[in-house]
Amino acid sequence: MRALVKTGDRPGLELVDVDRPEVGTDDVLIRVERMAICGTDLHIYQWNDWARDAVLPPLTIGHEFMGTIAELGDHVEELSVGDRVSAEGHITCGRCRNCRAGRRHLCRNAVGIGVQRDGAFAEYVSVPAFNIYPLPGHIDDDTGAVLDPLGNAVHTALTFDLVGEDLLVTGAGPIGLMATAIAKRAGARHVVVSDVNDDRLDLARQLGATRAVNPTRTELAATMKDLGMKEGFDVGLEMSGAPAALQGMIEVMTHGGRIALLGLVPAGTPVGWDDVIFKGLTLQGIYGRKMFDTWYKAAALLQEGLDLSPIFTHRFPVTAFEAAFEVLEQGTAAKVLMHWPDRG
Ligand code: NAD
Ligand code: ZN
Repeated sequence: MRALVKTGDRPGLELVDVDRPEVGTDDVLIRVERMAICGTDLHIYQWNDWARDAVLPPLTIGHEFMGTIAELGDHVEELSVGDRVSAEGHITCGRCRNCRAGRRHLCRNAVGIGVQRDGAFAEYVSVPAFNIYPLPGHIDDDTGAVLDPLGNAVHTALTFDLVGEDLLVTGAGPIGLMATAIAKRAGARHVVVSDVNDDRLDLARQLGATRAVNPTRTELAATMKDLGMKEGFDVGLEMSGAPAALQGMIEVMTHGGRIALLGLVPAGTPVGWDDVIFKGLTLQGIYGRKMFDTWYKAAALLQEGLDLSPIFTHRFPVTAFEAAFEVLEQGTAAKVLMHWPDRG
């Protein structure tokens, strides 16, 4: 079968022929129909310091996808060949204390599909049946391919009570954009989104942001004044990974404010601890998705009309993967989808 593989210790990827993955007794083989590129894939493509540490070539990359079941391991029940599915990208151990307590998202031994084991940018991918999420009929193929980052957005956005609260989202990447739409549906009052990329700010407006501001031109304080906010933001969702955004957020939080941190900031990023302490802020790190509570909530939000269509800005066949990664590098794209040319 064909797969997009990091073949060696250098930038780029290669579309090569590899063996079909093995299907263990508790695994499911999925015929991949739709793929989406994540920032993690871009890091592996560019081969930055993080990727060099995390990835051991040769490796088929990719973890945002949907497809249909092609084969079932001998022990797999309740799923059938032909089912439309997506899959949770973190494979948890099931044995550590958190796993045994039902807190799989806090597993200390989690393995990432497409990072530490072969992934989904291939004609077929094998995953444990436990990780399968069958797709309800109301979830189309494009959306089915992005349930992983949508899950990041749902997990982060719903960590704190949003009803009637004023919210700051820093970073209007795909996850910040999805979180914006979720927060509006979840009952937030003002959802202010900041980004340094004006194309993405336009998308934030389409997804329901009360205000979408570029901090290089407009001070957050001015936007707050304009909205009649007197005491600061109640909840912050940090979704940029930019040190300046985190620092700016801490400064405009209200006393007792709560911040959910999803963006991966560089090592050594300074934090305004004075504000954290004197304002009594809560900082909550967020990793991945709750298994599988987040998935059920995401599906329910979509059923109730959550519309992500504006984020799908580009589509490419896998054979044009270099062009796909390039538009993402340029910063004009939000979510870039790929498909196998002969699979539509
Ligand atoms: P992305 O890189 O597409 O989006 C980040 C956005 O932040 C970009 O639009 C960028 O222009 C913007 N930005 C840069 N500097 C800014 C500033 N000073 N103020 C405001 N915005 C600024 O990323 P994404 O795919 O949407 O992911 C968001 C973040 O979450 C990334 O840091 C990613 O690494 C991280 N992530 C974490 C997890 C997790 O489990 N914790 C999972 C997935 C992604
Ligand atoms: Zn575990």
